[in-house]
Amino acid sequence: MNLGRENHPELRDAVRELCAQFDSAYWQKIDEQRAYPEAFVDALTKAGWMSALIPEEYGGSGLSLTEATVIMEEVSRSGGNAGSCHGQMYNMNTLLRHGSPEQKTKYLTKIASGELRLQAMGVTEPGAGPDTTKITTVAVRKGDRYVVNGQKVWTSRLQHSELMILLVRTTPLSEVRKKSDGMSIFLVDTKSKGLDVRPIRNMVNHETNSVFIDNLEIPAENLIGEEGKGFRYILDGLNAERILIAAECIGDGYWFVDKACSYSKERVVFDRPIAQNQGIQFPIAEAYMEIEAANLMRYKAAALFDSRNSCGAEANMAKHLAAKSSWEAANVCIQTHGGFGFAAEYDVERKFRESRLYLVAPISTNLILSYLAEHVLGLPRSF
Ligand SMILES: Cc1cc2nc3c(=O)[nH]c(=O)nc-3n(C[C@H](O)[C@H](O)[C@H](O)COP(=O)(O)OP(=O)(O)OC[C@H]3O[C@@H](n4cnc5c(N)ncnc54)[C@H](O)[C@@H]3O)c2cc1C
Repeated sequence: MNLGRENHPELRDAVRELCAQFDSAYWQKIDEQRAYPEAFVDALTKAGWMSALIPEEYGGSGLSLTEATVIMEEVSRSGGNAGSCHGQMYNMNTLLRHGSPEQKTKYLTKIASGELRLQAMGVTEPGAGPDTTKITTVAVRKGDRYVVNGQKVWTSRLQHSELMILLVRTTPLSEVRKKSDGMSIFLVDTKSKGLDVRPIRNMVNHETNSVFIDNLEIPAENLIGEEGKGFRYILDGLNAERILIAAECIGDGYWFVDKACSYSKERVVFDRPIAQNQGIQFPIAEAYMEIEAANLMRYKAAALFDSRNSCGAEANMAKHLAAKSSWEAANVCIQTHGGFGFAAEYDVERKFRESRLYLVAPISTNLILSYLAEHVLGLPRSF
């Protein structure tokens, strides 16, 4: 079905055409082998979609975040998993908006050509999840370099990326006026000495790792923006991430609705297609309606981001509404499939697992609600 595909039809068609080369058997095999979809990410890169946000002068396509979200939505909607490659889209804004002209010249052309990947971002630590200001990974300047020590967790796609955006403390928490001051971001070569990367086996086929950092040396020229202002810079990246992930969830949501509709029309029980029963129809209709509503917030948030207006509330709401509606659609889809929903060959169980992630990462439900309560509704701060 073509529901929800009114915007950017040509872009959608081109991405769909590419995704069609990577069918359900491809994604099932990748999932079963817990492999990284190299061939898919390569194809997406060669076609220019992974460099969507890079300006044309550096060899990219110079598209907006809104258009980038359409690319990621179509990947999810094709039955694939956009989590394998969305990092480059949201990391890109950090570099584009806050990187120096020298950094852009050095890296962007190579990222656009696919020579380098910027897929990884190390923010979360074992002792500091969403409470980012408590990170304890520290960088100390020594001459023309910084020496970093600490630990990150859940750093995704690191083994399939040459570059990582790393958030560290450059001034201890006890010495800053505001707790969000004193953090800095660096562009890190992931093959550097001093990074011990240990994969975390997890519910989905998501390449993610614990990273032990022991005297990692980073050239001072790899500092992005000004020292001590990294938290502010990374917020732009986090808003982009939320909006992109909202679009992926919406792609998943439509995929679940499509699957539930087509399966229910074919599956005959008690001499009639199960789709004829309102007990089957209504939950699908409701899931569809919620996806449509979430989609409006996704476009609103993306438009605000593109016009450089503040979009924290909208990015959070878009991600929350989209993650909730895709998870609801996942439940409806698996229920509609009955026992076959559990069989890997139908793809539903895989997408079901994949869509569950987004109620937790990159930011969990409660943290979004508390952000809205405090920053939008003016309710008392709870932590
Ligand atoms: C597969 C995967 C990939 C990831 N990839 C990356 C990555 O590439 N880079 C990166 O930096 N991070 C990554 N993450 C980390 C992710 O962003 C965090 O897991 C997420 O933000 C939740 O933080 P936490 O795990 O520390 O949970 P916690 O903060 O420990 O939360 C646990 C639970 O408590 C709730 N909670 C916490 N505080 C409160 C409160 N005050 N009030 C009410 N409820 C509360 C939360 O909502 C949650 O339900 C990834 C995580 C996963 C699972």
